[in-house]
Amino acid sequence: MSERLLLDMDGVIADFMGSVYRTIEAETGDKLIHADTVDYWFGDTEHKPLILDIMHREGTYRHLDVITGAVGAVNRLREQYDVVVCTQPAQSKTCETEKREWLAEHFDTDFAEQAIVTRDKSKVLGKAIIEDNPYIDVPYEVIMFDQAWNRNRIGKYRMFGWHDLRPIRRVM
Ligand SMILES: [Mg+2]
Repeated sequence: MSERLLLDMDGVIADFMGSVYRTIEAETGDKLIHADTVDYWFGDTEHKPLILDIMHREGTYRHLDVITGAVGAVNRLREQYDVVVCTQPAQSKTCETEKREWLAEHFDTDFAEQAIVTRDKSKVLGKAIIEDNPYIDVPYEVIMFDQAWNRNRIGKYRMFGWHDLRPIRRVM
């Protein structure tokens, strides 16, 4: 059996923050860009309460943009590895359903059904995870998917977008 590569969703394949910035602009008029968030927990923005509110609203996770290049690259990786999405649910009742529908829309139903939605990624088995959370602590390799909010993490593996799969090849 091929080795399992875990894949975080938000900030890795789904552009959660892009959607958050659109909502903030619509509701407050403030224009934010990805470079403005350098603290993973939003400690650097006055909009933190609004961001947390958006995070827990029903519907938030259903219509996120795909991060550039993710669909083609992930489907290529699936030919070689057992790629499984591993994502944490937000508090809204519909979050898990929205995430699976999003995966079915942009990938396929198998991929959506296999996805692991969990509050504890350390209990999941895998050889590595592609992740944007700089504070992740798991007993397998972490490949940081570069974002403005994770540059504080010093690690062995970092990928700068879906145009470069070499860090994955080095781990797997
Ligand atoms: Mg994430």
